[in-house]
Amino acid sequence: MCGVVGIHGHDEAAKVAYLGLHALQHRGQEGAGIAADDGERLRASRALGLVGDVFGHGELEKLPGRSAIGHVRYSTAGESSLRNVQPFVVRYRVGQVAIAHNGNLVNAADIRGRLEARGSIFNTSSDTEVILHLVATSIQGTFINRLVDALLQVEGAYSLVVLSENRLVAVRDPHGFRPLVLGRLGEAWVVASETTALDLIGGTYEREVEPGEMVIIEGGRLTSISPFPRRPRKACVFEHVYFARPNSDIFGRPVYDSRFDWGRRLARVEPVDADVVLPVPDSGTPAALGYAFESKRIFKQGLIRSHYVGRTFIEPSQQIRDFGVKLKLSPVRSVIEGKRLIVVDDSIVRGTTSRKIVRLLRESGAAEVHLRICSPPIIASCFYGVDTPTQDELIAHRMDLEETREHIGADSLAYLPLEALHADLGDEAGAFCDACFSGRYPVAPRVGADRHQLPLFQPEGEDAV
Ligand code: AMP
Repeated sequence: MCGVVGIHGHDEAAKVAYLGLHALQHRGQEGAGIAADDGERLRASRALGLVGDVFGHGELEKLPGRSAIGHVRYSTAGESSLRNVQPFVVRYRVGQVAIAHNGNLVNAADIRGRLEARGSIFNTSSDTEVILHLVATSIQGTFINRLVDALLQVEGAYSLVVLSENRLVAVRDPHGFRPLVLGRLGEAWVVASETTALDLIGGTYEREVEPGEMVIIEGGRLTSISPFPRRPRKACVFEHVYFARPNSDIFGRPVYDSRFDWGRRLARVEPVDADVVLPVPDSGTPAALGYAFESKRIFKQGLIRSHYVGRTFIEPSQQIRDFGVKLKLSPVRSVIEGKRLIVVDDSIVRGTTSRKIVRLLRESGAAEVHLRICSPPIIASCFYGVDTPTQDELIAHRMDLEETREHIGADSLAYLPLEALHADLGDEAGAFCDACFSGRYPVAPRVGADRHQLPLFQPEGEDAV
């Protein structure tokens, strides 16, 4: 996962991008960068770390210009390394290009192999760089045609923001896997992964960048083209389950409402006799509120989250991840002791978090722990940009429900069935990708028979992508 932002026609473009990235920080905490266009040159500043740290020391002053793009990065495999932090800025025979990408290309390795065989030299191990090489080697005459030419060759998920020749270009892949919205800030145009970025900068929401649409913003004017073959819309349902911020509208739907309504439905399909509904903060909170509302049970915060530690999930080693749960969540003994708890979380991936939480609650005196998960079991890896591990690591792939319950140590365990997830999406259910829950991939993964997740980024020095 990653977050992107773009702005065109603002005197303080880099500063607006910086604010937008703050709102998108939850989409990636490993690195951040901004590239700005002053009409003559593209300049970029990128570093590992959080947005506030990366740009806290006068970095923004070095990025003049009325257009800018920004990126927050969340690596899906391998070590963090500065060379993989976006936006990438390159100079090629015709000029300069800056690019920032949210998503994952499924055929990047094939294309890269082909290009390297012809002598291309890659600077990073990111799939995004493939797009730049395809642009640079395209025989098309204009930048837009070169970009279209490049994107016609890639498959998979991309929400892109691009700067070149005084233009801001925003593109979404034909399936529209990852979100991208268009808004205004006074006379300026803004694009961002989520509406929360528009809210923070005081902008207004115009509309989504449509799947397969390329918007080109130049001299204050916007033009839209749809140069790709049409594909069925397949927006990532996991954005609504977990990834996006609850105050965002994603794919035209309020994320908070999705989570609350799924929580209500979970209470109807998987009821349990217990005393207290307790969320796993923060990701399980809207669903737990929905569950409590529907089951007419009291909602209490029995786990207090420290906001000063990052997401446990992104720690690179299993050892640190386990430790991270305790760092992040502190039990409230008075809420837990002697009580039969309904614990609501958004999803189980490896099962590590749930197991730790159940142990923590038992150590704090819980009489019973009933785990309710507000999404279906994750049985298949994502190849379109969500950080799910290889299929073998997914607990729902390795174990059946009873084995999982036992492993996690809960008194009962239930998930939201896939039909129930679809029910709340109504007529739009078919317009969502649910490959992680169903194994039905809209674009075939190209990773050999073992179905391992494509490593987007790899450690320095290793063979790339
Ligand atoms: P685990 O089952 O220990 O692997 O982690 C599951 C928890 O991590 C879920 O309850 C989510 O809150 C969170 N989570 C789920 N998917 C992701 C993801 N792709 N990236 C980061 N965190 C995630």
